[in-house]
Amino acid sequence: MCRHLGWLGEPVSVASLMLEPPSGLLVQSYAPRRQKHGLMNADGWGVGFFDRSVPRRWRSASPLWGDPSFASVAPALSSGCVVAAVRSASVNMPVEASASAPFTDGTWLLSHNGIVDRAVLPMSRRAESTNDSALLAALIFDRGLDHLGDTIVEVAAGDPDARLNIVAANGSRMLATTWGDTLSVLRRPDGVVIASEPYDDDPSWQEVPDRHLVDVTGTEVTLTPLRGL
Ligand code: GLN
Repeated sequence: MCRHLGWLGEPVSVASLMLEPPSGLLVQSYAPRRQKHGLMNADGWGVGFFDRSVPRRWRSASPLWGDPSFASVAPALSSGCVVAAVRSASVNMPVEASASAPFTDGTWLLSHNGIVDRAVLPMSRRAESTNDSALLAALIFDRGLDHLGDTIVEVAAGDPDARLNIVAANGSRMLATTWGDTLSVLRRPDGVVIASEPYDDDPSWQEVPDRHLVDVTGTEVTLTPLRGL
């Protein structure tokens, strides 16, 4: 399992999203508050952000807390659209930077929080690694993000034990799903945060119910139920 976060709004530093909040991804890497599976997220981390329309990424197979270079540079990296994650690798999955979210097809950045049986996912040459999350990302990219909800429902039908929380963004739109794990939304005056768990104790965080699609465009947040097959 992992913890992930998405931002869509005014340009803000990635440090302000990941490192500075009292319970941000940095703290969630060793002391998550709402994680149901796994104790910590020490198997890597990643952040992707849009630089105009170009997705740029920094990923690692090491714990986020042990990266002083990133901590030094992160306050200087600003963007209006960010996807970030800390990783707890599932059993038998490779621990390598290319297995850390976010994944990309050159247009979208995408993170998976969960687990899925790789046998129900097609092998893909576009997958960045051999872990379940990379294969799932490749399938979602192949199907198109407009069909994210349908793809999740279809994969869940193949593996009823799958947990399929996704956060994806393309610079002007952010999508998320809840399927088996926690997710919260914070509407701020300068944008919208989606996160596996609140990064602070602001009472404005709203929990997203399980099996929903979240669609964020501008400051508008739409929730749609996902129905299993
Ligand atoms: N199944 C994932 C992996 O091993 C676990 C991490 C996550 O929740 N994305 O890559």
